[in-house]
Amino acid sequence: MKLRRSKNKGWYEIKSECPICGHRGWCRINEEKTIVNCMRVPSDDYFDSHIGRQYRHYLSDVYPDTAFDDIEETSDIDKKPNDYLDAVYRTLLEEVSLSDFHHKELAERKFTNEQIRLREYRSLPTNDRHKTTKRVLNRLTDHDALLGVPGFYEKEGQFGSFWTMAGHSGMMIPSRSIYNEIIGFQIRVDQPPLEMNFKGDLGHIEGRIIKEHEKDESGFRKATCEIIKNGRRLVGELTEKIQQGIYDSATGKLVGSVTLTQGQKYYWWSSSNKNNGSSIGTPLPYHFSLPSSLMDKWNYNDTPDRLIDCSEVWVTEGGLKSDRAADVLLRPFFGTPGLNSFSLILEPLKALECKHVVIAPDADVTITPQVERALGQCAEFFAVNTDMKLSLAMWDLSLGKGIDNLVNNGYIPQVTTLVG
Ligand SMILES: [Zn+2]
Repeated sequence: MKLRRSKNKGWYEIKSECPICGHRGWCRINEEKTIVNCMRVPSDDYFDSHIGRQYRHYLSDVYPDTAFDDIEETSDIDKKPNDYLDAVYRTLLEEVSLSDFHHKELAERKFTNEQIRLREYRSLPTNDRHKTTKRVLNRLTDHDALLGVPGFYEKEGQFGSFWTMAGHSGMMIPSRSIYNEIIGFQIRVDQPPLEMNFKGDLGHIEGRIIKEHEKDESGFRKATCEIIKNGRRLVGELTEKIQQGIYDSATGKLVGSVTLTQGQKYYWWSSSNKNNGSSIGTPLPYHFSLPSSLMDKWNYNDTPDRLIDCSEVWVTEGGLKSDRAADVLLRPFFGTPGLNSFSLILEPLKALECKHVVIAPDADVTITPQVERALGQCAEFFAVNTDMKLSLAMWDLSLGKGIDNLVNNGYIPQVTTLVG
């Protein structure tokens, strides 16, 4: 299991697959290997933290893959306060542009040119990032101005160190606080990185992607991969989503498998684990979407309740989706990292004097028992912590997956009360 030491003593972030939800990153495990605090699979035992709701799962000692074989130490610089991040990120926005490719993608999602301009989407540069960073740094007052700003880090070069930007290329989606501060970016990656997922009782095993090749006829990605198991090196070609058996060299028995998969499409722009880099976490940003026709009137440091009625606020997953839905439904929206991370928006909702929260999960997720359970707990959370009314927006999957797809197709959701 690959881990990263977290700021919380005795706890690690799981960088390989979480034994509970199977996803990478965000979930935590304790040093004793007895508890996994999973961020995605609900349990009745949970607590809210500044990374979102954590669900405790007690591990029996039968999990074969709980050996801690790779622990990243972190020397991340603490993230700067929101007003500071805002000043640096706004400078960055002026130094980078939106590529034609990303503009086209937004247009396909039915954003108008004006909306794209007002929302300030950008493209994370592919080349010469150090030059862009230098232009940003030149406009800020001091040489250490990028310390504590997630996304930037200091790289060692032949002629000394220089500041640059981390992360896979993609579209930058700004996250805005309710005070119109830009507090982070979600990146929608152009080409999600390939990952090797191991299953089975494999002991210490390492995998590395050597080279990606042209896609096959069915459009699946292919790569030459290297596996090192008990000192033996195997090299072979893997095709996305096709499981390949792994055999014990002594007995010839099948002991596990490896599958090539695409990593996540969205990630938080962060420079964690890089020299003088910073993590986006603790607390994770949320995003507030004001209908873009009001964006020009929204002053820095002002809450949006002067511009729009915030007694009813809608919540969905992800920034791009909430931006689009806010523009069509003309309502204030929050985009959160996940549907269980509503604790991140509790204070902002109170600051807006919200009376009614409408949650709009994707239509394909409302039907699973896990999500039903998470929604039940969400309802409980609102009932215990607030006097806000809570409702659920639903629609048939055939009308669109996300609320953005639904409204783009010309429909509106049906709203049902969860907490009155
Ligand atoms: Zn998990």
